[in-house]
Amino acid sequence: MGNSVAKYDVIIVGAGPAGALLAYLLASQNARVLLMDREHLPRDKPCGGGLTPRARALLPFEIEEVIAEYSYSVKAFVNGKPVFVAHRDHPVITMVMRSRLDHFLAGKAVQAGATLKDGVGFKALRPSGDGLSIYTSEGIFKGRLLVGADGVNSRVARALGLKVRRHVMNGVEGEIYHPDINFPRVFQNTAHFDFGLIPEGYGWIFPKRDHLSVGVLSASRRVKHLRPYFNAYLAAKNIHASAKVKSFMAHLIPISPDKRNILASERGLLVGDAAGFADPITGEGMTYAFKGAHIASSVIMDALRSGYNRLEAYTPILRKEMGHDLIFAKRFAYILYKCPRFSTRVISAHGGRLGDLHMGVIQGERSYESLYRKMFSLAGLRAIVRLLLLRR
Ligand SMILES: Cc1cc2nc3c(=O)[nH]c(=O)nc-3n(C[C@H](O)[C@H](O)[C@H](O)COP(=O)(O)OP(=O)(O)OC[C@H]3O[C@@H](n4cnc5c(N)ncnc54)[C@H](O)[C@@H]3O)c2cc1C
Repeated sequence: MGNSVAKYDVIIVGAGPAGALLAYLLASQNARVLLMDREHLPRDKPCGGGLTPRARALLPFEIEEVIAEYSYSVKAFVNGKPVFVAHRDHPVITMVMRSRLDHFLAGKAVQAGATLKDGVGFKALRPSGDGLSIYTSEGIFKGRLLVGADGVNSRVARALGLKVRRHVMNGVEGEIYHPDINFPRVFQNTAHFDFGLIPEGYGWIFPKRDHLSVGVLSASRRVKHLRPYFNAYLAAKNIHASAKVKSFMAHLIPISPDKRNILASERGLLVGDAAGFADPITGEGMTYAFKGAHIASSVIMDALRSGYNRLEAYTPILRKEMGHDLIFAKRFAYILYKCPRFSTRVISAHGGRLGDLHMGVIQGERSYESLYRKMFSLAGLRAIVRLLLLRR
């Protein structure tokens, strides 16, 4: 085992969107940053690779070279019936392959001055002198602060003594290649979302240039295996039996962060899935990974400049900036997934309006809180009741 004594201001474990962007932001402000990942980059991550406009707006640089396609339209279906179609003249979802995006982001961090070590797994941390000794599969690294950007099963969280209560959804995703190369064009730059076919969840199709990324997710504890639902979804969408499913993978998605969670200690903090932030309706996590990286970068730079490793400010800022709005998203998710008969009726009748309102959220034009207040205003409730009575 090698033994490294290089001293870093910040050691970041996990080179996904959260860790790589944070490394970039800190290194751009002259912090000495080590970014490590147990996998060799580029590596795969089960993910639809859909970047919403609100996620892209959080990236401080262009990502053109890793864009796999754009979706200008979104179609939503309930039990196979179309309930919402939206078309925009700008991309509603920017499609990427995560192996390429994450590699690109880590490269940006290196260009900004961070040191990248891939194939290095975090094992443990020990306080040493005025800093920390980080034990890894490739030796010991010394730093002042440690960041856990190591995903939903964060080992760093445990090492920092942070008890993070996570609620999770199961997701699976596969890349579908068809013998007919023109096959993805059938979907014509249109992302599909299908409700009603998967218990407490949905299925999606994200067309990429030469294939389709297809996945299903479910928040139901009763659904242990998603593969049968994935296969049934392919059949329901007429995706031909001769299509090849490549890199089929399962992964957890954290939803509804627990208000009691403390996400920083005096030695470090958590970002992205490790901190438990993702959209409880859609499972979209990159927006929260990027936003968390911005917040973490400003708290860490303050701590480094003040000469103290004081990160107490982090949890309350995260709660205010991200957690608060997710409380409202969680309420919508509850209605959508736990009251399927009610939500199916409302969406079937009012899909267009609801879809437009939700598009406003993913475009970053409105918050879940404003959407909630609008819909559950007296006028909104009256409209829902009227609608339900009319459809009896
Ligand atoms: C099926 C599915 C589809 C999804 N689709 C979308 C989508 O279309 N759009 C969207 O915005 N979000 C989507 N998400 C959510 C999104 O993938 C995550 O929210 C996002 O990857 C979180 O980024 P992260 O940087 O926090 O963690 P991750 O991307 O999970 O990265 C964590 C990194 O830490 C590394 N690591 C772990 N342990 C260690 C260790 N001990 N030592 C060193 N390194 C370690 C891992 O190798 C990994 O590279 C999807 C999730 C799933 C499961």
